[in-house]
Amino acid sequence: MAGLYYTRHLILRSSAQLQAEIATRVALEIEEFMEDRLTRLADLAASISLHGSGSDEQKQLAALLLKNERSFEQIAILDERGREALKVTETEIRRANELSDQSESQEFKSAMRGERYIGPVYTPNGPYMTLSLPIRAGSGKIIGVVIGTARLKVLWDIVKNIQFGRAGYAYVVDGTGTLIAYRDTSMVLERRDLSALPEVREFLRKPEMAGDAPAAISRGIDGEDVLSTHAPVKKLRWAVVLAEPAAVALSEIATVRWYAFLPLGMGLLLGGLGISGAANRITKPILELQRGIRSIGAGSLDHQVESESGDEIQELAEGFNKMALELKNFSATQEQKVDQRGQEVAALYDVSTALNKSVDVQGILSAVIAKITEIFHFEATRIFLFNDAMNELEMRASFEADLEYFRGTRGFKRGQGIVGHVANSGEALIFEDVWTDARYAALSKTKALQNAQRHFFAAFPIKNQSHVFGVMTFNGEAPRKLTGDEIPLITSMAEQVAVAVERARLFARVQTRSQHLTVLNEIGAAVSHSLDLEVILGDAVKKVVETLSFDACWIYILEPSEPCLRLRAQTGLSAETAQSVERRPVERGITGKIFETGQPLVSEDLTNDPLYQKISSASKVAELGFKSSAGFPVVANHEIQGVFHVVSYSRHQFTAEELQLLEAIAHTIGVAVENARLFVEVKDKTLELEKANQELREATRAKSEFIAAMSHELRTPLNIIIGHSELTRDGTFGAVNEQQQAAMQKISRNGRVLLKMINDVLMLSRIEAKKMSLDVVTVEIEEVIEQAQTYVEQLKRDHHLEVSWHIDKNIPPVLTDSMKLEEILHNLIGNAFKYTSEGSIEVRVRDLPDKGRVEFSVADTGVGIDPANLGRIFEEFEQVKDSGKNGGVGLGLSIVKKYVELMQGDIRVESEPGKGSKFTFSIPRSVSLHS
Ligand code: ADP
Repeated sequence: MAGLYYTRHLILRSSAQLQAEIATRVALEIEEFMEDRLTRLADLAASISLHGSGSDEQKQLAALLLKNERSFEQIAILDERGREALKVTETEIRRANELSDQSESQEFKSAMRGERYIGPVYTPNGPYMTLSLPIRAGSGKIIGVVIGTARLKVLWDIVKNIQFGRAGYAYVVDGTGTLIAYRDTSMVLERRDLSALPEVREFLRKPEMAGDAPAAISRGIDGEDVLSTHAPVKKLRWAVVLAEPAAVALSEIATVRWYAFLPLGMGLLLGGLGISGAANRITKPILELQRGIRSIGAGSLDHQVESESGDEIQELAEGFNKMALELKNFSATQEQKVDQRGQEVAALYDVSTALNKSVDVQGILSAVIAKITEIFHFEATRIFLFNDAMNELEMRASFEADLEYFRGTRGFKRGQGIVGHVANSGEALIFEDVWTDARYAALSKTKALQNAQRHFFAAFPIKNQSHVFGVMTFNGEAPRKLTGDEIPLITSMAEQVAVAVERARLFARVQTRSQHLTVLNEIGAAVSHSLDLEVILGDAVKKVVETLSFDACWIYILEPSEPCLRLRAQTGLSAETAQSVERRPVERGITGKIFETGQPLVSEDLTNDPLYQKISSASKVAELGFKSSAGFPVVANHEIQGVFHVVSYSRHQFTAEELQLLEAIAHTIGVAVENARLFVEVKDKTLELEKANQELREATRAKSEFIAAMSHELRTPLNIIIGHSELTRDGTFGAVNEQQQAAMQKISRNGRVLLKMINDVLMLSRIEAKKMSLDVVTVEIEEVIEQAQTYVEQLKRDHHLEVSWHIDKNIPPVLTDSMKLEEILHNLIGNAFKYTSEGSIEVRVRDLPDKGRVEFSVADTGVGIDPANLGRIFEEFEQVKDSGKNGGVGLGLSIVKKYVELMQGDIRVESEPGKGSKFTFSIPRSVSLHS
C-alpha cells in the first residue's frame, strides 16, 4: 500500500512539477512578449515626439516599426484631443479624411493619464490586443497617444502546440475567467466562460498566486478529470492553465501495482512476527526489513536489506531488495521522462524565441547548436548551409573539438559525401555505428569519422516544403540510437532553422537590393549634377567599393588622340600599381578584350580560369593578388569608350543581380563619359563662335569706318560738281547753248542721285557704327504730312500718278525724331513712285490709341514684289533683280527699317506682283529714351 501510495504521489508530484514549470515558462513568455511590444511602442513614442503630429516623419517612423516588428498589425497616433493624426498598417497609410475621433476610447484616456494601457484580447480575425502609451514632449507634457495593435498569433500558436505527457494541454484565461487561447479555436471564438472550473476559480480567487502543488485532481475544460495547475500572467491578469487527463497520467500506476502489494504483504507478516517476539535469529533480519521499508517510505530507494539466514526470510529479503531496485529504476525512468519532456519543451521555446527575434543567421545557428549540445550531448554538431549559388554546402557553425580529421570536411558539393547526399535527398541519415554500417562505407568519401574514432553519426536536412537550405550533422564517440522522441525534436529544430535561414536570406536579398539601388541612384545623381568626368568617375569607384563587397575598382577610358586606354579613376590600388597600369593598349589583356568585344568578362577564380589565362598573358590582375574579377564595357554614344572593372582578393561569387547592377553602373558611367564629351564639344564650339564673332565685329567696324570716311571724301568734290554744273547751266559763267544746258542738267541730276547714294551709305554706316542717336522732339503729324506733300509735288513733276491722303483727325502730337520720320516717309513714297508706272498712290495715317501708337502706310499700284523676295528687301544693298534700272542701290529700305527700329517701331510689307505693294509701319506715340 505504501508503494502504491508512494508511486501515485510521485507521479502527481512530478506531473505537478512539470506542469508548473511549463505554466510558469509560458506565463513568462507571454509577459516578456507584451513587455517587448510595449518597449517598442515606447521607443516609437519617443522618436515621433520630435516631429509634428501626422507629419511624414511620423508616418515613416510608424511604417518602419511595422516593417521591422511583424507582431504589430497597426499603429495609430492620436493628437492631444484624441483625434487620429495618422494610422498606418503594413499595406496602407490612412489619409486624414479617413481618420476618426478616439477621444472616448480607453486607449486614449488611460494614456492621457500617463498610464500604459493593455487592452482586452479580441479574437475575430485575431487574436489581437491594443496597447497604448502617452507621447511626451521634451518637457514631459503629454502631447498625444500612440496605439499599437499587437498580433498575438505567435503566442497563441505556442499555447496551442503545448503538449506534455501523453495528453496534456494548455489554455489561457483572462481576468474574468473567459477562455482566450486554446487549441480548439472555436471555443476561443465563443469566448467560453470557464470561471466555474476549479482551477480557474482558484486563479480568480487569488489572481497573483500560482496553482497548488502537488497537482490536484479536478475538472478539465471538456468535463473530464484532470491533473491541473496554473501560473498567473501578473501584468495582464491572465492565467496559463495546464491540464492532463488524470486517467492517462495515472495509468502508469497499474504497472507498479504488483510491487505495491508485495510490501503490503510483508508489512503484515513482519508485524505478526514482531508481536510473537520470536528468537533473535528471526527478529534481526526482520527488523532489518522493517528499517528498509521505512527508509523506502521516506523516499530513499537505495536501501538494500542484508540477510543470510538461508530461509524464507532471506528469500523475502531478496525479493524485497529486487523490488526496491526495480522501484528505483522505475522512478528513475519516470523522473527522466518528466525531465526530458521539460527539456524538450524548453529547448523548442528557446530555439523558436531565438529565431523569432533575429535575422542574423550566424547568431541563430550558434543558439541552436548550443541548445542541441546541451540536450543531446553529441560530441560534435555542425551546420552546413548552401552558398548563395545553392551549389556548395559550407560549414557555417559548429560545436566540436576542432579535430584535424574534420578540417578537410568544411565544404561539400551538392551530392558529395553524406552531407551532400542528405542535401540532395532531403531525407535524414542516421548511423548508429559507422564502423558497421554499410551505407557509411558506401557514401563517405573521406572516412573522417573513422579516422577520428567516432561511431555515431547523423545528418538531418535543414529544409522547408520546397527547398533544402543545408544539413545539420551530429557525431558521437560511442554507438548510439536516436529514440522516437529525439528524432522529431531534432527534425523540428532543423525545420525551425530552415525557417530562420529562409527569412534571413529574404531579408538579406531585400537589403542588398535596396543597397544596390542606392549605389546606382547615387552614381546616377552624381552624373546628372556634375559635368566634371574626373569627379564623377572618382565618386563612382569609391561608392562601388564602399557599398559592394569589392576590394578594388577602376575605370579605363579611351584616349582619342593615341589609341590606348587610360586609367581615369581607381580605388583600392596602390599609387605605384596605378601608375604602372596607367595606359593599356586597346588590343591586349583583359581590358583590351572587353574593349574589343564589348562583352563583360567575369571570373570567380582567376588563378584557375583557363579563358582568363589565355587572354591575359601578363596575368596582371592575378599578379596583384586578386582572386575574382568582373569587367564591363563602358558604352557612350553607341561606341565602346572604356572598361569598368571590379575585383576582390577573396573568391567572390557574382550573383545575377549583382552582375546586373554592375552592368547598370557601367552604363551610367557611359552616360557620364558622353555628357562630358558633349560638354567639351559645346565648350569648344562656343569658344570658336565667340572668336568668329569677335572677328566679324572687327571687320564690320572697319568697313563702316572705311565707308564713312570714303563717303565723306566723295561728298565734297561731288557737291562742287553739282554746284558748278548748275551755275553753268543757269548761265552764271556766260551764255550756254541749249545742248550745253541739257548736258549740264544731266550732270546735275546724276550728281544728285550719286549724292543721295553717298548720303545713304554714310547714314547706314553711322547707324551701324552706333553713332546714330534719336533727336526726340514733339512732332505734329500734320506738319510731317505737309512736308511729305511738298516732296510729292516735286515727284509728280516727272510722274503722273494720283496721290491720295487719308489722315486721321485729331492725332495728338507724337514724341519722336521728326527728321527720321520724314526721311522714312520720303523713302517709302519715293519707292512707290519709282516702282509704279501708272495708277495711284495712297498714303494713310491712323491713330491707334489702344496701342499707344500711330500707324503710317504707303500703298501703290505698281510692279509689286515677288513673294520670294519679300524677306530680302530690307537688307543692305539688296535689290530685286532688274530694279536697278530705277536708279537705286538697295539701301533705302534698310535705312528705313533701321530708323523704324531706332524709333521703337516696326514695319511690314504686303505685295502682289503686278498689282502693287503696301508698306506699313507704326511708331509709339512717345518714344522711350531709356530702352
Ligand atoms: P532701291 O534703291 O533699289 O530702291 P530699296 O532698299 O529702296 O532700294 O528697295 C529695295 C528693293 O525693294 C528695290 O530694289 C525694289 O525691287 C523693291 N521695292 C522697294 N519698294 C518697292 C515698291 N514700292 N514696289 C515694288 N518694289 C519695291
